[in-house]
This record gives sequence, structure tokens and C-alpha cells, in this order.
Amino acid sequence: MVSRVIPVQPFDLVIFGGTGDLARRKILPGLFRRFCAGQMPEKARVIGAARADMDTAGYRAVVRDAIIEFSDETPDDASLGKFLEHLEYVPIDARGETGWRELAKLVRADVVRAFYFSVGPSLFADLAERLNQHGLTDEDSRIVVEKPFGRDLDSAKSLNRDLAAFFHEKQIYRIDHYLGKETVQNLMAVRFGNMLFEPLWNSQYVDHIQITVAETVGVGGRGEYYDKSGAMRDMVQNHLMQLLCLIAMEPPSKFEPDAVRDEKLKVIRALDEVEPHHIVRGQYEASEKGKAFRDEVGDSRSRTESYVALKVGISNWRWAGTPFYLRTGKRLKARSSEITVVFKELNHSIFGDGGEHRNVLSIRLQPNEGITLGVTIKEPGLGGMRLIDVPLDMSFADALGDEGVDQTDAYERLIMDVIRGNQTLFMRGDEVEAAWAWTDPIIRGWEARGDVPKPYECASEGPGDAVQMLARDRRVWRKVSP
Ligand code: NAP
Repeated sequence: MVSRVIPVQPFDLVIFGGTGDLARRKILPGLFRRFCAGQMPEKARVIGAARADMDTAGYRAVVRDAIIEFSDETPDDASLGKFLEHLEYVPIDARGETGWRELAKLVRADVVRAFYFSVGPSLFADLAERLNQHGLTDEDSRIVVEKPFGRDLDSAKSLNRDLAAFFHEKQIYRIDHYLGKETVQNLMAVRFGNMLFEPLWNSQYVDHIQITVAETVGVGGRGEYYDKSGAMRDMVQNHLMQLLCLIAMEPPSKFEPDAVRDEKLKVIRALDEVEPHHIVRGQYEASEKGKAFRDEVGDSRSRTESYVALKVGISNWRWAGTPFYLRTGKRLKARSSEITVVFKELNHSIFGDGGEHRNVLSIRLQPNEGITLGVTIKEPGLGGMRLIDVPLDMSFADALGDEGVDQTDAYERLIMDVIRGNQTLFMRGDEVEAAWAWTDPIIRGWEARGDVPKPYECASEGPGDAVQMLARDRRVWRKVSP
């Protein structure tokens, strides 16, 4: 089963920060893959823009090297050559006058115009203003902005205001690349495309839900940024929040941008405040498996968390009484993103075996995307009716064949959605603000209390306190396993 490729309209995509890490690592290799897949039309152009003084030939050489370095497979030389012909470069200063006239001459009026702000958020306002001042945009032009979208509610509001001064909400595409993952979209397909799950998807049948995003990597080269951010801002406020929304939201009336985003917003607004004893922060220590977080960020007194586990309730008709346990961390035992729905015990067992049997639905987002449903069956053999729990395991690769598992990177999908004008997988301004409004008091509480994160070993499952938190509720975390 091979996925269908529908070419998009001709476009000019300007990448501000076109020489930066994100552009070289993700955006440009992603565009190259879409080109190879036949999704980029002949008239499409990508225009890199940054302060570095170089010409288009020089930029094409930079992009060639980046695509070779960051593609999983060695790119076909002829295809790469053809792709590079679609590229242009303009030296530009977001904060000055350099380059804007040249860019205005280059960008065409008769194609979709998209402007990717792949630069730090401190430049968003300057870019928005200059785009407008130089007449580069019209009602149909789009801008794409990267995370982090603010570091608290006030800064997110201020960014929203800066962009709203020149663009309508319909023109603003706020990226959370998690939403572009194939398997994350599958969450909606599983929930709303099957009769089986939705009738049970509520507090009457669901005991609790766990959402885990575990990474094996540390902060790497992002130490300086991460030390000011931490897992709560870097992962929970955006990626885990989005997963929580997709798993908890009401069915939208249609699979349309505002219908989906309205439902997600309602979930965020219904989140309870998190009690301090329902949250555990952690920070990895040095071991033979790796350096300590503090050494990696170069601050021996850092109190930034590289791990968070928390329990939160959703005060609405569907979920009141069902806790959601979220956790994410770096340098954990395995790289794994998984959502687990643990159903309640039967209210009456006719077998009287005394065992505790629960159905557990586990949706693995990465790696080995698939679904496992734990069911109770009779233990095979003679000797009476004894029950055991077994997993019904469906890996999407097994079910669809390797070719059927879509390898499209999240960025590729999202950029094509920008060109198509589909905002379903992008965060709306009010959603981002609501997420910060929930996150801010938690972070302020830590700061006020001088909270010190609990140490945990590299390659472990995180701090023991997180295990205790669930044990107090007579529950256990799923194993962090690949
Ligand atoms: P980066 O490597 O530092 O690149 C920044 C880019 O912006 C460079 O091309 C730089 O080129 C350009 N730039 C800086 N000042 C400029 C100015 N005044 N006018 C025009 N261009 C300017 O940063 P990055 O890692 O690519 O990140 C870009 C954005 O994406 C950031 O907001 C980051 O938080 C976000 N992000 C990055 C990643 C990632 O994996 N890297 C992941 C998620 C989000 P010149 O210096 O030549 O101007």
C-alpha cells in the first residue's frame, strides 16, 4: 500500500533563517523528499534568507551539503541537482533594511506566498512588520512560526499581538511538529474512525490514562537554551499537551481546522490545577552511561528539570474522576512515545479467580508504531478455568507492510499543509495561550518554593518519586521500553 501524493499549488516559500540548524536539518531535507515524491510543482521556489553574505550558487552548495548530511539515505545526485535549481538566496537583515527590496522583487504575486520564520522568536515582530512594510504579503500569504512560542503566558500574548498586528489568525501557522507525526494523526483515526473505542472512552470505563514521551538523548548542543527552558516548557506545555488534547477531546463535528482546534481548546481549559504533590521534577546525574545534566549545560547549580511526571484531572462530564498521568524526560532507558488507556476492572467476574484483569490499550507513537490491546483469555490446558492476560499486538508495519508505513517526516507534512492552506495540525493562538495559562502557575510555584529536581540515573526510568506518586494511587507506570 503506497500513500497517494497530491501535488500542491505553485509556491514561493521564503525561509528566514535559511542557513540555520533547523532549516538545514529538517526543513530543506524535508522539502527535498517532497520534491522527490513529486509533490513540489515545477513552478515552486524556495528562497533562503539570512544575514550571511552569499549568492544563490553559494546557498545551493550549503543546502546540498545539508541534505547529504541530514538525509537518512544517500540522495540521488540527479534529483538533488534538479531540486537545487528551485532554490534562491537573498542576504537579508530582519532588523535592518538590507535585502528587503531584493526579496520584494523576487517573490511572485501569482503563487502561494509562505514565509517560514526559522529564527529566534525575538525576530518575529521585526519580520512581520517588514514583510508588511515592503508589500510582500496579501490576504492569502502565510507565515510559519516555530516553537518556543513564548516562555510564559505574557510572552506568548505579546508574540500573538505582534503577529496579529499584520496577519489574520488564518494566516498564522504555529508549528508543533508532534502534530505532524503520522502516528499522532492516527490517534484521531483510531478514536473517531472506529465504533469500538469511543463508547468506552470516558470515566465510566477508563481507570486512568498514561502519556509517556521518553528520550535517550541528553540536552546535547542545546544546553544553553534548555537550561532556561526545562522539560515543562520544552515538552509538556506543547507536545504532551497536544497528545493529551487529542486523546481527551470530544469528537469534532468535522475534521476541519477550527472544529478540531475548538475541541482541543476546551480540553486545555478544563484541566485542573496541578497540586504540588502531584508533580515530580527530575534531573539526570552522571553515571558511566553519560554526563550529568549540570555538566552538559555548564551550570553546576542548575535547578532546571530534564524530567517531569505529573497527574492531572480534566473537569468535564467525560473525564471527571479519571486521572491522566504525563511524563517526559531525557536520558531515560529507551526512546519511546506511548499513550496507554487502562480500563477499569470488571464490575463482576463470573470466574472468581481473584485475579485483577484489566484491558489495556496502548498506542505506540514511536518507535514501532502500532496498537496493543491487552485482553483476558483462558490459560490454555486442562485443570479448570484460569485466566491470563495476553497482548493482541498490531504493529502497523506488520499490518500494512513496510511500504505502507508512511515515513514522511513531520516537517514535510506540515510544510505541505501550509502551502495547501490547511491549519488543522497547527496551534491556534488561543490554544497556545490556554496551555501557558495552565503551565505558568506550576512553574511559578517551583520558583517560589526554590524546588530542587530529584536526581535520577542516566538510562533509568526516571526518579523514584515518580514511581511513588503512582504507587500512592495503587497504580504503576508502564515500563519505558523501546
Ligand atoms: P540557528 O541555527 O541559530 O539559526 C538561526 C538562523 O537565523 C540563521 O540562519 C541566522 O543566519 C538567521 N538570523 C539570525 N539573525 C538574523 C537576522 N537579524 N536577520 C536575518 N536572519 C537572521 O537556529 P535554529 O536552531 O535553526 O532555530 C531557529 C528557530 O527554530 C528557533 O526559534 C528555534 O527555537 C526553533 N527550533 C529549532 C529546532 C532545531 O532543531 N534546531 C527545533 C525546534 C524549534 P545569520 O546569522 O547568517 O543571519
